[in-house]
Amino acid sequence: MRTFRRALLCGGLSLGLASHAGAQTAPLLGFTPQGSAAERALEAKFDSSLSADAIRARLQQMAAEPNQVGSPHDKANAEFELAQFKAWGWDAHIEVFSVLYPTPKAESLELLGDQPYKAQLTEPPVAGDATSARTDGALPAYVAYGGDGDVTAPLVYVNYGMPDDYKALARMGVDVRGKIVIVRYGAGWRGLKPKLAQEHGAVGCIIYSDPADDGYGPGDAYPKGAWRNENGIQRGSVMDMPVRAGDPLTPDVGATANAPRIPIADANTILKIPTLPISYGQAQHFLAALGGPVAPKGWRGALPLTYHVGPAAQVHLVVQSDWSQKPLYDVIAVLKGSERPDEWVVRGNHRDGWVYGAEDPLSGQSALMEEAKSLGAMAKAGWRPRRTIVYASWDGEEPGLLGSTEWAEAHAAELQAKAIVYINSDGNGRGFLGTEASYSLRALLDQAAGDVKDPETGVSVRQRALANLAVKGAEPGATEDDKKRGKAAASGVLPIGDLGSGSDYSPFVQHLGLASINLGFGGEGSSAGVYHSAYDTFEHYDRFGDPGFHYGVALAQTSGRLVLRTANAEIAPLRFTNLADTVGDQVEELKKLTRTMRERTEAIDKLLDQRAYSLAADPLLSSAPPEREAAVPEIDFKALEDAVTRLKASAKAYDEAAASAGALKPERRNQVNALLQGAEQSLTDTRGLPGRPWYRHLIYAPGLLTGYGSKTLPGVREALESRRWPEAGEFVGRTAAVLQAVSDRLDKATALLKG
Ligand SMILES: [Zn+2]
Repeated sequence: MRTFRRALLCGGLSLGLASHAGAQTAPLLGFTPQGSAAERALEAKFDSSLSADAIRARLQQMAAEPNQVGSPHDKANAEFELAQFKAWGWDAHIEVFSVLYPTPKAESLELLGDQPYKAQLTEPPVAGDATSARTDGALPAYVAYGGDGDVTAPLVYVNYGMPDDYKALARMGVDVRGKIVIVRYGAGWRGLKPKLAQEHGAVGCIIYSDPADDGYGPGDAYPKGAWRNENGIQRGSVMDMPVRAGDPLTPDVGATANAPRIPIADANTILKIPTLPISYGQAQHFLAALGGPVAPKGWRGALPLTYHVGPAAQVHLVVQSDWSQKPLYDVIAVLKGSERPDEWVVRGNHRDGWVYGAEDPLSGQSALMEEAKSLGAMAKAGWRPRRTIVYASWDGEEPGLLGSTEWAEAHAAELQAKAIVYINSDGNGRGFLGTEASYSLRALLDQAAGDVKDPETGVSVRQRALANLAVKGAEPGATEDDKKRGKAAASGVLPIGDLGSGSDYSPFVQHLGLASINLGFGGEGSSAGVYHSAYDTFEHYDRFGDPGFHYGVALAQTSGRLVLRTANAEIAPLRFTNLADTVGDQVEELKKLTRTMRERTEAIDKLLDQRAYSLAADPLLSSAPPEREAAVPEIDFKALEDAVTRLKASAKAYDEAAASAGALKPERRNQVNALLQGAEQSLTDTRGLPGRPWYRHLIYAPGLLTGYGSKTLPGVREALESRRWPEAGEFVGRTAAVLQAVSDRLDKATALLKG
């Protein structure tokens, strides 16, 4: 789904940790000095088996045919990997789930009227790309979990189709009720576009990639360059994932064959209106047919036409899907731990693509398999991890994180009792390290990044990421976020993103409360232009994604270190000062947000009282004044402030005790590890977030109106943003309670460490 191509942390940001002089000799978190030396020697052995050519060959094979859910090649890839794991000495099996997975039966899009036009909904082969010609079994233009329908209606252009766009349309006097909307990709999760259109009364939705954002705007189109050409289509899921991920018919339980299933009519994550994605070559015909008001400046893309809003032109949209069950094949491989087999380190990457899936996801998948090969070789040579290592190749990620979510739900109790960490990757490419992580894992991630060499420059991938961010932040025109990241990076702190959604870590961290990491390289290779398109082929990736596959090896080295260090550390390598400091900053942010909202509301009220909007309006154009908003009351944040103060003290005491802890008696060590294993879960509330109980984490979640991007302290922040004041107060209390629960745990662990 989402990978570290462009964004490189588009989720929220909070600061990492200070610089790492002498990284190669510093003791590793959770290890004694002798243990650190032995661990580094083991990692050197691990590296020695990693091969860029092997990663390349495996990707070429796995991306040779369409491998979406339900396709023969997806199953063949699962069986291929099962055989590989077994050959490498892992205890491996395929876990099958049965999910509702719609596929297109009939679809069409036509412009009616005196200049009729029928849209092309497939991607023709590209010269020099043999794979793109092997189209048997490839999905045409399609989004999964949109509604079925046969509708004819006037067309309206709604820009990115986000809440502010509908507010602007209302002020222009344009109503989308009973209309079909055309919306461009970007500025938010794909699924929000048809969802918000549906909520505003539209009867159909067309999503296209505007070349300004995703085509010849950023660079030459494929095959000349890497970027999306006029025929490139971005498929995807429009499931209402910000409400719940996973199979729509088996909420909260694994979709095993005999699982209880709800009727499809009751599935609240399936949308109602027919929706189709198209290329900009096709969209041009529909946008050119629009009249009505000229689109506001910020709505205009890069197509050679004047962008109008409409409504105009009659459009006929048909989508009929085959709503049947399909099997998912999750490949699960286990290396049992020697000392603590009931403590698990879980590593995963999805395997299913939308068509050939070379960059997304097989670039990351092939690196994961290379790690498994090397770990297997070490195990065959007699090595055993302390804790159990579980490797997973997920199916069904693209339609809605299905394979990972069903597995997480099916094994929820065992995972919550045993898993220490979940480490995720997705697509990968040439460039800079991008990371998102639970706050307690940032020190581990920062240290590991300091120990992996960047293939292009020879410095550590950590140092290179810092340089990149510092330069970006100092550029003229840098965004506030880039400036913030740049400042942190310039002071040697590696910015690490907050976990929102968009890949398989979501069920682990946000539903089960397991400490998680998401990582990948990117920012130089350019695969964004073929995202979810039939042009995301081995040929495109070999030319533009990661020529030489050196970043495949860098990903394997970085993730491999995270797995090995978590599996072998005496004490689980978690640290908590970052959690306390970051949440403290976020509480201050929320207080500032409330103040800003109050000032803005009062300012607009004043302008409304003075009739300033109608006086300033152009009488020839219809534009209404903004709605008057509810006044912003005082919100009592004391409970949260107190919880943060205590957590800062508890975290400091724990981190200091952990850093100076010597060898512990096994029983005491196991008690400390048990407390740490449950720390992230303490940040969850089983009642979940308002209107979406599947999301239980009270510190980070995907925004209801962002879909991918993370919202921190989501219960409080989203209630404030949508002016639900009593709910904001309630979640101040609930969030304070989970912070107190973590402090309780840390105080116990510190006492044990201090003995
Ligand atoms: Zn993906």
